[in-house]
Amino acid sequence: MSSDSTEFAGRSNDLLLIVDDDEFMRTVLGSSLRDLGFSRVEAVESGTMALARCNGTLDAPQLILLDLNMPDMDGVEVIRQLGARGFAGALVLLSGEDATTLRAAETLARAHKLRILGSQSKPVAQEALAQLLARHNKAPSSTNRAPSATVPVKAAKRVFSATEVAHAIARGEIINHYQPKVLAESGEVVGVEALARWQHPEAGIVYPDQFIAVAEAGGFICDLTRGVLRSAIAQAAAWRAGGIKLTVAVNITMDDLAAPGFASDAIAMARAARLEPESILLEVTESQLMPDLIRVLDALARLRIHRFRLSIDDFGTGHSSLVQLRDLPFDELKVDRSFTRNAHQDFRLRAFFQTTIDLARTLGMTAVAEGVETADDWDFVRRAGACCTQGYFIAKPMPADALPAWIEMWHARVRNERLVDPRGMEGVVAHN
Ligand code: C2E
Ligand code: MG
Ligand code: MG
Repeated sequence: MSSDSTEFAGRSNDLLLIVDDDEFMRTVLGSSLRDLGFSRVEAVESGTMALARCNGTLDAPQLILLDLNMPDMDGVEVIRQLGARGFAGALVLLSGEDATTLRAAETLARAHKLRILGSQSKPVAQEALAQLLARHNKAPSSTNRAPSATVPVKAAKRVFSATEVAHAIARGEIINHYQPKVLAESGEVVGVEALARWQHPEAGIVYPDQFIAVAEAGGFICDLTRGVLRSAIAQAAAWRAGGIKLTVAVNITMDDLAAPGFASDAIAMARAARLEPESILLEVTESQLMPDLIRVLDALARLRIHRFRLSIDDFGTGHSSLVQLRDLPFDELKVDRSFTRNAHQDFRLRAFFQTTIDLARTLGMTAVAEGVETADDWDFVRRAGACCTQGYFIAKPMPADALPAWIEMWHARVRNERLVDPRGMEGVVAHN
Protein backbone atom coordinates (compact mmCIF):
# COMPACT_ATOMS: atom_id res chain seq x y z
CA MET A 1 0.00 0.00 0.00
CA SER A 2 1.40 3.44 -0.88
CA SER A 3 1.74 6.37 1.50
CA ASP A 4 -1.31 7.98 -0.15
CA SER A 5 -3.53 5.40 1.47
CA THR A 6 -3.96 7.27 4.76
CA GLU A 7 -5.55 10.19 2.90
CA PHE A 8 -8.41 7.98 1.84
CA ALA A 9 -8.87 6.16 5.09
CA GLY A 10 -12.19 7.93 5.76
CA ARG A 11 -13.86 6.50 2.64
CA SER A 12 -11.81 3.33 2.21
CA ASN A 13 -14.86 1.15 2.89
CA ASP A 14 -16.79 2.62 0.00
CA LEU A 15 -17.49 0.29 -2.87
CA LEU A 16 -15.78 1.39 -6.09
CA LEU A 17 -16.84 0.03 -9.45
CA ILE A 18 -14.59 0.09 -12.53
CA VAL A 19 -16.49 -0.10 -15.82
CA ASP A 20 -14.14 -0.74 -18.74
CA ASP A 21 -14.19 -3.19 -21.63
CA ASP A 22 -10.39 -3.40 -21.61
CA GLU A 23 -9.21 -6.11 -19.23
CA PHE A 24 -5.73 -4.65 -18.88
CA MET A 25 -7.22 -1.26 -17.81
CA ARG A 26 -9.47 -2.98 -15.28
CA THR A 27 -6.47 -4.72 -13.74
CA VAL A 28 -4.27 -1.61 -13.67
CA LEU A 29 -6.99 0.63 -12.25
CA GLY A 30 -7.98 -1.98 -9.69
CA SER A 31 -4.47 -2.23 -8.39
CA SER A 32 -4.05 1.58 -8.32
CA LEU A 33 -7.24 1.92 -6.29
CA ARG A 34 -6.13 -0.74 -3.84
CA ASP A 35 -2.77 1.02 -3.54
CA LEU A 36 -4.69 4.15 -2.64
CA GLY A 37 -6.32 2.31 0.24
CA PHE A 38 -9.68 1.29 -1.18
CA SER A 39 -10.29 -2.30 -0.18
CA ARG A 40 -13.66 -2.79 -1.92
CA VAL A 41 -13.06 -2.55 -5.64
CA GLU A 42 -15.12 -4.38 -8.25
CA ALA A 43 -14.76 -4.31 -12.01
CA VAL A 44 -17.20 -5.05 -14.84
CA GLU A 45 -16.66 -5.05 -18.57
CA SER A 46 -19.83 -3.42 -19.89
CA GLY A 47 -22.40 -0.70 -19.25
CA THR A 48 -25.16 -3.29 -18.97
CA MET A 49 -23.32 -5.08 -16.17
CA ALA A 50 -22.63 -1.77 -14.44
CA LEU A 51 -26.31 -0.79 -14.49
CA ALA A 52 -27.28 -4.21 -13.15
CA ARG A 53 -24.77 -3.69 -10.31
CA CYS A 54 -26.44 -0.34 -9.48
CA ASN A 55 -29.97 -1.70 -9.48
CA GLY A 56 -30.18 -2.81 -5.87
CA THR A 57 -30.35 -0.10 -3.27
CA LEU A 58 -28.20 -2.11 -0.89
CA ASP A 59 -24.49 -2.16 -1.50
CA ALA A 60 -24.65 -0.13 -4.69
CA PRO A 61 -21.25 1.39 -5.53
CA GLN A 62 -20.47 4.80 -4.05
CA LEU A 63 -18.12 5.62 -6.89
CA ILE A 64 -17.99 4.52 -10.52
CA LEU A 65 -14.96 4.93 -12.76
CA LEU A 66 -16.53 4.85 -16.18
CA ASP A 67 -14.84 4.33 -19.53
CA LEU A 68 -16.62 6.31 -22.25
CA ASN A 69 -15.53 4.12 -25.16
CA MET A 70 -17.14 0.72 -24.87
CA PRO A 71 -18.45 -1.36 -27.75
CA ASP A 72 -22.05 -2.23 -26.80
CA MET A 73 -23.39 0.41 -24.50
CA ASP A 74 -21.06 3.41 -24.51
CA GLY A 75 -20.33 5.58 -21.49
CA VAL A 76 -22.68 8.35 -22.62
CA GLU A 77 -25.59 5.91 -22.59
CA VAL A 78 -24.51 4.68 -19.14
CA ILE A 79 -24.52 8.31 -17.91
CA ARG A 80 -28.03 8.80 -19.27
CA GLN A 81 -29.28 5.61 -17.60
CA LEU A 82 -27.59 6.40 -14.28
CA GLY A 83 -29.21 9.84 -14.38
CA ALA A 84 -32.63 8.31 -15.06
CA ARG A 85 -32.18 5.91 -12.12
CA GLY A 86 -31.17 8.68 -9.74
CA PHE A 87 -27.71 7.26 -9.04
CA ALA A 88 -26.34 9.39 -6.20
CA GLY A 89 -22.81 8.04 -6.00
CA ALA A 90 -19.87 9.84 -7.55
CA LEU A 91 -18.60 9.39 -11.08
CA VAL A 92 -15.16 9.63 -12.67
CA LEU A 93 -15.01 9.56 -16.48
CA LEU A 94 -12.13 7.95 -18.34
CA SER A 95 -11.44 8.03 -22.03
CA GLY A 96 -8.82 7.88 -24.70
CA GLU A 97 -10.68 10.73 -26.41
CA ASP A 98 -9.52 14.33 -26.26
CA ALA A 99 -10.29 16.77 -23.44
CA THR A 100 -13.20 18.34 -25.37
CA THR A 101 -15.06 15.04 -25.52
CA LEU A 102 -14.44 14.39 -21.86
CA ARG A 103 -15.70 17.85 -20.98
CA ALA A 104 -18.85 17.41 -23.07
CA ALA A 105 -19.53 14.13 -21.24
CA GLU A 106 -18.93 15.85 -17.89
CA THR A 107 -21.43 18.56 -18.83
CA LEU A 108 -23.93 15.90 -19.82
CA ALA A 109 -23.46 14.09 -16.50
CA ARG A 110 -24.06 17.32 -14.59
CA ALA A 111 -27.16 18.00 -16.65
CA HIS A 112 -28.39 14.60 -15.45
CA LYS A 113 -27.74 15.78 -11.89
CA LEU A 114 -24.98 13.22 -11.39
CA ARG A 115 -22.15 14.02 -9.00
CA ILE A 116 -19.06 14.10 -11.16
CA LEU A 117 -15.61 14.24 -9.58
CA GLY A 118 -13.83 14.86 -12.87
CA SER A 119 -12.45 13.15 -15.91
CA GLN A 120 -9.12 11.72 -16.95
CA SER A 121 -7.57 10.87 -20.28
CA LYS A 122 -6.12 7.37 -20.51
CA PRO A 123 -3.64 6.14 -19.51
CA VAL A 124 -4.51 7.34 -16.03
CA ALA A 125 -1.59 8.46 -13.87
CA GLN A 126 -1.81 7.33 -10.26
CA GLU A 127 -1.27 10.88 -9.01
CA ALA A 128 -4.14 12.26 -11.12
CA LEU A 129 -6.38 9.48 -9.86
CA ALA A 130 -5.36 10.25 -6.28
CA GLN A 131 -6.35 13.90 -6.76
CA LEU A 132 -9.76 13.00 -8.13
CA LEU A 133 -10.42 10.53 -5.36
CA ALA A 134 -9.37 13.07 -2.76
CA ARG A 135 -12.46 15.01 -3.88
CA HIS A 136 -14.54 11.91 -3.23
CA ASN A 137 -13.01 11.64 0.19
CA LYS A 138 -13.92 15.23 1.05
CA ALA A 139 -17.48 15.00 -0.24
CA PRO A 140 -20.26 13.93 2.09
CA SER A 141 -21.07 10.25 1.83
CA SER A 142 -23.84 9.41 -0.61
CA THR A 143 -25.20 6.39 -2.32
CA ASN A 144 -28.10 5.33 -4.48
CA ARG A 145 -30.87 7.90 -4.18
CA ALA A 146 -33.64 5.32 -3.83
CA PRO A 147 -34.79 5.37 -0.22
CA SER A 148 -33.76 2.45 1.94
CA ALA A 149 -33.54 1.90 5.66
CA THR A 150 -29.78 1.46 5.57
CA VAL A 151 -28.92 4.05 2.94
CA PRO A 152 -28.44 7.67 4.00
CA VAL A 153 -30.18 10.07 1.63
CA LYS A 154 -28.69 13.56 1.23
CA ALA A 155 -31.09 16.19 2.61
CA ALA A 156 -32.64 18.35 -0.10
CA LYS A 157 -31.92 22.07 0.12
CA ARG A 158 -34.68 23.86 1.97
CA VAL A 159 -36.79 26.09 -0.22
CA PHE A 160 -37.64 29.44 1.36
CA SER A 161 -40.77 31.39 0.55
CA ALA A 162 -40.81 35.04 -0.51
CA THR A 163 -42.38 35.95 2.85
CA GLU A 164 -39.61 34.22 4.81
CA VAL A 165 -36.91 36.00 2.81
CA ALA A 166 -38.69 39.36 3.12
CA HIS A 167 -38.90 38.90 6.91
CA ALA A 168 -35.24 37.95 7.09
CA ILE A 169 -34.30 41.20 5.35
CA ALA A 170 -36.60 43.24 7.56
CA ARG A 171 -35.23 41.60 10.73
CA GLY A 172 -31.63 42.21 9.73
CA GLU A 173 -30.78 38.51 9.46
CA ILE A 174 -28.82 39.03 6.24
CA ILE A 175 -25.18 39.70 7.07
CA ASN A 176 -22.06 40.15 4.95
CA HIS A 177 -19.12 37.83 4.67
CA TYR A 178 -16.06 39.10 2.82
CA GLN A 179 -13.83 37.32 0.34
CA PRO A 180 -10.39 38.83 -0.33
CA LYS A 181 -9.13 39.91 -3.75
CA VAL A 182 -5.36 39.94 -4.19
CA LEU A 183 -3.04 41.24 -6.88
CA ALA A 184 -1.70 38.43 -9.01
CA GLU A 185 1.78 39.88 -9.32
CA SER A 186 2.56 40.83 -5.74
CA GLY A 187 -0.06 39.00 -3.66
CA GLU A 188 -1.07 42.34 -2.12
CA VAL A 189 -4.60 42.32 -0.65
CA VAL A 190 -6.40 45.13 -2.45
CA GLY A 191 -10.04 44.50 -1.78
CA VAL A 192 -12.83 42.27 -0.59
CA GLU A 193 -16.16 41.25 -2.04
CA ALA A 194 -19.17 41.40 0.26
CA LEU A 195 -21.24 38.23 -0.08
CA ALA A 196 -24.64 38.04 1.57
CA ARG A 197 -25.31 35.30 4.12
CA TRP A 198 -28.57 34.66 5.90
CA GLN A 199 -28.12 33.87 9.57
CA HIS A 200 -31.21 31.78 9.88
CA PRO A 201 -32.38 31.23 13.48
CA GLU A 202 -32.86 27.46 12.91
CA ALA A 203 -31.17 26.53 9.63
CA GLY A 204 -27.83 28.24 10.42
CA ILE A 205 -25.97 29.99 7.60
CA VAL A 206 -27.98 30.02 4.37
CA TYR A 207 -26.15 30.80 1.10
CA PRO A 208 -27.24 33.24 -1.64
CA ASP A 209 -28.41 30.55 -4.06
CA GLN A 210 -31.29 29.95 -1.62
CA PHE A 211 -32.50 33.51 -1.25
CA ILE A 212 -31.21 35.97 -3.92
CA ALA A 213 -33.43 34.63 -6.70
CA VAL A 214 -36.39 34.53 -4.28
CA ALA A 215 -35.76 38.19 -3.40
CA GLU A 216 -35.50 39.10 -7.07
CA ALA A 217 -38.69 37.28 -8.00
CA GLY A 218 -40.49 38.73 -4.98
CA GLY A 219 -39.51 42.26 -5.96
CA PHE A 220 -37.53 43.08 -2.79
CA ILE A 221 -33.96 42.57 -3.98
CA CYS A 222 -33.46 46.35 -3.69
CA ASP A 223 -34.13 46.16 0.07
CA LEU A 224 -31.56 43.40 0.38
CA THR A 225 -28.96 45.29 -1.68
CA ARG A 226 -29.39 48.44 0.37
CA GLY A 227 -28.77 46.48 3.58
CA VAL A 228 -25.68 44.80 2.14
CA LEU A 229 -24.36 48.10 0.77
CA ARG A 230 -24.94 49.95 4.03
CA SER A 231 -23.07 47.29 6.06
CA ALA A 232 -20.27 47.09 3.49
CA ILE A 233 -19.76 50.87 3.56
CA ALA A 234 -19.77 50.92 7.36
CA GLN A 235 -17.30 48.04 7.43
CA ALA A 236 -15.01 49.67 4.87
CA ALA A 237 -15.00 52.85 6.95
CA ALA A 238 -14.21 50.85 10.13
CA TRP A 239 -11.33 49.01 8.43
CA ARG A 240 -10.08 52.32 7.09
CA ALA A 241 -10.13 53.78 10.61
CA GLY A 242 -8.09 50.76 11.74
CA GLY A 243 -5.48 51.32 9.01
CA ILE A 244 -6.75 48.69 6.54
CA LYS A 245 -7.41 50.34 3.20
CA LEU A 246 -9.45 48.09 0.95
CA THR A 247 -11.83 48.42 -1.96
CA VAL A 248 -15.12 46.83 -0.91
CA ALA A 249 -17.23 45.26 -3.65
CA VAL A 250 -20.98 44.80 -3.43
CA ASN A 251 -23.10 42.74 -5.83
CA ILE A 252 -25.98 44.64 -7.37
CA THR A 253 -28.59 43.69 -9.94
CA MET A 254 -30.04 45.53 -12.89
CA ASP A 255 -33.23 45.89 -10.84
CA ASP A 256 -31.28 47.92 -8.28
CA LEU A 257 -29.94 50.20 -10.99
CA ALA A 258 -33.39 50.65 -12.49
CA ALA A 259 -34.98 51.44 -9.10
CA PRO A 260 -35.56 55.15 -8.53
CA GLY A 261 -33.17 56.64 -6.01
CA PHE A 262 -30.55 53.85 -5.96
CA ALA A 263 -27.67 56.05 -7.11
CA SER A 264 -28.68 58.94 -4.82
CA ASP A 265 -28.97 56.61 -1.83
CA ALA A 266 -25.58 55.02 -2.51
CA ILE A 267 -23.98 58.47 -2.79
CA ALA A 268 -25.67 59.56 0.45
CA MET A 269 -24.56 56.40 2.31
CA ALA A 270 -20.91 56.89 1.31
CA ARG A 271 -21.06 60.55 2.30
CA ALA A 272 -22.61 59.76 5.69
CA ALA A 273 -19.83 57.25 6.40
CA ARG A 274 -17.16 59.71 5.15
CA LEU A 275 -15.95 57.07 2.74
CA GLU A 276 -14.70 58.09 -0.68
CA PRO A 277 -16.77 56.33 -3.37
CA GLU A 278 -13.56 55.20 -5.16
CA SER A 279 -13.26 52.51 -2.53
CA ILE A 280 -16.69 51.08 -3.35
CA LEU A 281 -16.97 48.76 -6.31
CA LEU A 282 -20.39 47.76 -7.58
CA GLU A 283 -20.39 44.32 -9.25
CA VAL A 284 -23.22 44.07 -11.75
CA THR A 285 -24.62 40.78 -13.05
CA GLU A 286 -27.49 40.77 -15.43
CA SER A 287 -29.65 38.04 -13.99
CA GLN A 288 -32.76 39.00 -15.89
CA LEU A 289 -33.46 40.95 -19.02
CA MET A 290 -32.35 44.54 -18.70
CA PRO A 291 -35.41 46.17 -17.10
CA ASP A 292 -35.14 49.73 -18.37
CA LEU A 293 -32.01 50.71 -20.24
CA ILE A 294 -32.42 54.45 -19.82
CA ARG A 295 -32.79 54.23 -16.05
CA VAL A 296 -29.89 51.81 -15.77
CA LEU A 297 -27.63 54.06 -17.86
CA ASP A 298 -28.75 57.07 -15.85
CA ALA A 299 -27.85 55.37 -12.55
CA LEU A 300 -24.51 54.08 -13.85
CA ALA A 301 -23.56 57.47 -15.23
CA ARG A 302 -24.37 59.18 -11.93
CA LEU A 303 -22.44 56.59 -9.93
CA ARG A 304 -19.46 57.04 -12.24
CA ILE A 305 -19.58 60.82 -11.98
CA HIS A 306 -19.48 60.42 -8.20
CA ARG A 307 -16.46 58.11 -8.61
CA PHE A 308 -17.97 54.79 -7.60
CA ARG A 309 -16.22 51.96 -9.43
CA LEU A 310 -18.18 49.52 -11.57
CA SER A 311 -17.46 45.89 -12.33
CA ILE A 312 -19.05 43.43 -14.72
CA ASP A 313 -19.46 40.14 -12.85
CA ASP A 314 -19.50 36.55 -14.18
CA PHE A 315 -18.22 37.69 -17.55
CA GLY A 316 -18.59 35.01 -20.21
CA THR A 317 -21.82 33.54 -18.85
CA GLY A 318 -24.99 34.01 -20.87
CA HIS A 319 -26.04 37.06 -18.91
CA SER A 320 -22.91 39.16 -18.68
CA SER A 321 -21.83 39.67 -22.20
CA LEU A 322 -20.05 41.77 -24.75
CA VAL A 323 -23.20 43.82 -25.27
CA GLN A 324 -22.87 45.15 -21.75
CA LEU A 325 -19.20 45.94 -22.23
CA ARG A 326 -20.05 47.84 -25.36
CA ASP A 327 -22.85 49.85 -23.77
CA LEU A 328 -21.98 50.36 -20.11
CA PRO A 329 -19.04 52.08 -18.41
CA PHE A 330 -17.22 49.38 -16.43
CA ASP A 331 -13.82 49.66 -14.70
CA GLU A 332 -13.38 45.98 -13.92
CA LEU A 333 -14.16 42.71 -15.63
CA LYS A 334 -14.50 39.50 -13.61
CA VAL A 335 -13.91 36.35 -15.61
CA ASP A 336 -16.47 33.81 -14.46
CA ARG A 337 -15.01 30.99 -12.39
CA SER A 338 -16.15 28.36 -14.89
CA PHE A 339 -13.41 29.66 -17.20
CA THR A 340 -10.68 29.86 -14.57
CA ARG A 341 -11.01 26.53 -12.87
CA ASN A 342 -8.89 23.97 -14.75
CA ALA A 343 -7.98 26.37 -17.59
CA HIS A 344 -4.37 25.30 -17.02
CA GLN A 345 -5.20 21.86 -18.43
CA ASP A 346 -7.92 22.63 -20.98
CA PHE A 347 -6.94 24.57 -24.09
CA ARG A 348 -10.48 25.84 -24.81
CA LEU A 349 -10.90 27.31 -21.35
CA ARG A 350 -7.38 28.69 -21.62
CA ALA A 351 -8.16 30.37 -24.96
CA PHE A 352 -11.32 31.95 -23.59
CA PHE A 353 -9.59 33.06 -20.42
CA GLN A 354 -6.62 34.59 -22.22
CA THR A 355 -8.80 36.38 -24.79
CA THR A 356 -10.96 37.87 -22.05
CA ILE A 357 -7.94 39.07 -20.08
CA ASP A 358 -6.50 40.63 -23.25
CA LEU A 359 -9.85 42.29 -24.02
CA ALA A 360 -9.99 43.81 -20.53
CA ARG A 361 -6.44 45.11 -20.88
CA THR A 362 -7.16 46.62 -24.30
CA LEU A 363 -10.22 48.37 -22.88
CA GLY A 364 -8.18 49.67 -19.93
CA MET A 365 -10.12 47.60 -17.40
CA THR A 366 -8.87 45.62 -14.41
CA ALA A 367 -9.20 41.90 -15.11
CA VAL A 368 -10.14 39.73 -12.14
CA ALA A 369 -9.91 35.94 -12.24
CA GLU A 370 -12.65 34.42 -10.09
CA GLY A 371 -12.59 30.86 -8.79
CA VAL A 372 -8.86 30.36 -8.25
CA GLU A 373 -9.15 27.11 -6.33
CA THR A 374 -5.79 25.38 -6.63
CA ALA A 375 -2.08 26.13 -6.88
CA ASP A 376 -2.30 25.23 -10.59
CA ASP A 377 -5.10 27.80 -11.09
CA TRP A 378 -3.01 30.38 -9.23
CA ASP A 379 0.07 29.78 -11.38
CA PHE A 380 -2.02 29.82 -14.53
CA VAL A 381 -3.88 33.10 -13.89
CA ARG A 382 -0.62 34.81 -12.96
CA ARG A 383 1.06 33.64 -16.16
CA ALA A 384 -2.01 34.64 -18.22
CA GLY A 385 -1.71 38.20 -16.93
CA ALA A 386 -4.81 38.58 -14.73
CA CYS A 387 -4.42 41.71 -12.59
CA CYS A 388 -6.35 40.46 -9.65
CA THR A 389 -7.45 37.08 -8.30
CA GLN A 390 -10.09 35.71 -5.99
CA GLY A 391 -10.88 32.17 -4.96
CA TYR A 392 -10.70 29.43 -2.38
CA PHE A 393 -6.95 28.97 -2.96
CA ILE A 394 -6.51 32.45 -1.49
CA ALA A 395 -9.40 32.46 0.98
CA LYS A 396 -13.03 31.55 1.37
CA PRO A 397 -15.51 34.29 2.30
CA MET A 398 -15.20 35.10 6.02
CA PRO A 399 -16.84 37.27 8.69
CA ALA A 400 -15.48 40.83 8.80
CA ASP A 401 -13.70 40.40 12.12
CA ALA A 402 -11.65 37.48 10.77
CA LEU A 403 -10.08 39.60 8.04
CA PRO A 404 -7.19 41.37 9.86
CA ALA A 405 -5.75 38.06 11.13
CA TRP A 406 -6.26 36.48 7.72
CA ILE A 407 -4.25 39.28 6.06
CA GLU A 408 -1.33 38.54 8.39
CA MET A 409 -1.54 34.84 7.63
CA TRP A 410 -1.77 35.42 3.90
CA HIS A 411 1.37 37.55 3.85
CA ALA A 412 3.24 34.83 5.73
CA ARG A 413 1.92 32.25 3.29
CA VAL A 414 2.94 34.31 0.26
CA ARG A 415 6.47 34.38 1.64
CA ASN A 416 6.68 30.80 2.92
CA GLU A 417 5.10 29.16 -0.10
CA ARG A 418 6.82 31.54 -2.52
CA LEU A 419 3.53 32.32 -4.21
CA VAL A 420 4.94 35.32 -6.07
CA ASP A 421 8.20 36.42 -7.55
CA PRO A 422 10.43 37.60 -4.63
CA ARG A 423 10.64 41.11 -6.11
CA GLY A 424 6.83 41.35 -6.07
CA MET A 425 6.86 40.07 -2.51
CA GLU A 426 9.10 42.91 -1.27
CA GLY A 427 6.35 45.26 -2.38
CA VAL A 428 3.85 43.47 -0.16
CA VAL A 429 6.06 43.49 2.88
CA ALA A 430 6.99 47.15 2.42
CA HIS A 431 3.36 48.07 1.96
CA ASN A 432 2.48 46.77 5.36
P1 C2E B 1 -20.45 36.14 -7.37
O1 C2E B 1 -20.72 37.58 -7.17
O2 C2E B 1 -19.83 35.72 -8.63
O3 C2E B 1 -19.58 35.70 -6.11
C1 C2E B 1 -18.62 34.73 -6.13
C2 C2E B 1 -19.19 33.42 -5.63
O4 C2E B 1 -18.24 32.42 -5.90
C3 C2E B 1 -19.40 33.38 -4.15
O5 C2E B 1 -20.46 32.47 -3.89
C4 C2E B 1 -18.11 32.81 -3.62
O6 C2E B 1 -18.21 32.20 -2.37
C5 C2E B 1 -17.85 31.79 -4.71
N1 C2E B 1 -16.44 31.49 -4.84
C6 C2E B 1 -15.38 32.28 -4.61
N2 C2E B 1 -14.23 31.67 -4.85
C7 C2E B 1 -14.55 30.43 -5.28
C8 C2E B 1 -13.77 29.31 -5.69
O7 C2E B 1 -12.54 29.32 -5.71
N3 C2E B 1 -14.45 28.21 -6.06
C9 C2E B 1 -15.81 28.15 -6.05
N4 C2E B 1 -16.39 27.01 -6.44
N5 C2E B 1 -16.57 29.19 -5.66
C10 C2E B 1 -15.95 30.31 -5.28
P2 C2E B 1 -21.69 32.86 -2.97
O8 C2E B 1 -21.28 33.67 -1.81
O9 C2E B 1 -22.45 31.60 -2.73
O10 C2E B 1 -22.49 33.81 -3.91
C11 C2E B 1 -23.06 33.35 -5.10
C12 C2E B 1 -23.63 34.47 -5.90
O11 C2E B 1 -24.74 35.06 -5.22
C13 C2E B 1 -22.66 35.62 -6.13
O12 C2E B 1 -21.80 35.29 -7.19
C14 C2E B 1 -23.60 36.74 -6.45
O13 C2E B 1 -24.01 36.68 -7.80
C15 C2E B 1 -24.79 36.42 -5.58
N6 C2E B 1 -24.75 37.27 -4.38
C16 C2E B 1 -24.04 37.12 -3.25
N7 C2E B 1 -24.27 38.15 -2.41
C17 C2E B 1 -25.14 38.99 -3.06
C18 C2E B 1 -25.75 40.25 -2.74
O14 C2E B 1 -25.52 40.84 -1.70
N8 C2E B 1 -26.59 40.77 -3.68
C19 C2E B 1 -26.83 40.16 -4.87
N9 C2E B 1 -27.67 40.76 -5.72
N10 C2E B 1 -26.26 39.00 -5.22
C20 C2E B 1 -25.43 38.42 -4.31
MG1 MG C 1 -19.67 39.21 -7.46
MG1 MG D 1 -18.85 36.20 -10.15
